[in-house]
Amino acid sequence: MQTSSRLLGVGAELAAFLLAATCAGCDEPGTLLCPRCRCDLTPRPRSSVTPGGLPVHAALEFDGVAARCIRRLKGEGETYLARPLAEALATVLSPLATPMTWIVPVPTARRAFRRRGYRVPELLIRRAHAQPQRMLSLVAAAVDQRGLGAREREENVRGTMRARGRGEGAEVVIVDDVVTTGATLDEAARALEAAGYRTVAAVVLAATPHRSGF
Ligand SMILES: [Zn+2]
Repeated sequence: MQTSSRLLGVGAELAAFLLAATCAGCDEPGTLLCPRCRCDLTPRPRSSVTPGGLPVHAALEFDGVAARCIRRLKGEGETYLARPLAEALATVLSPLATPMTWIVPVPTARRAFRRRGYRVPELLIRRAHAQPQRMLSLVAAAVDQRGLGAREREENVRGTMRARGRGEGAEVVIVDDVVTTGATLDEAARALEAAGYRTVAAVVLAATPHRSGF
């Protein structure tokens, strides 16, 4: 009796939470992600190549509902969005994730980790049912990339990452949430290759249209 009334209490709290919630994609009340917006997260895989020649596979365009959901995951702590977004990521990651492949997330700045309490690329990899290998670390802080052009971004991130251990030819797929010019992915590949890893591709949740050549 006590258990069922406690369950009712939990149910009422959940109902109240959902009533106060709005859809992450379109602000429709009473839902965390409405069916229409969930449908907008259906992957539309695209491939491109970074300036450094690394193939990049993106699940979504960083636009509309997908961009809103990614911003809310990154900026507002709405980690429940990692699951539907990771479903999209998995469609481009899974075909490349052989048992021999290391899935390496782009490192998260310490300040961003402290603010969020989680690392976005790592969270997405886990929710996509893969195992992230934290092989890359930041050895220098890049300034905020927003507003920088492709060449400025390249200069800004160069030499900021280092790979742990020795790769000895191990195959790596790099994972990030959003690609804009590809400068960050190129720096990640440079650091991994300097340590003896073989970077076969990068996989990203979303690509910024027009900027990333998609
Ligand atoms: Zn919606």
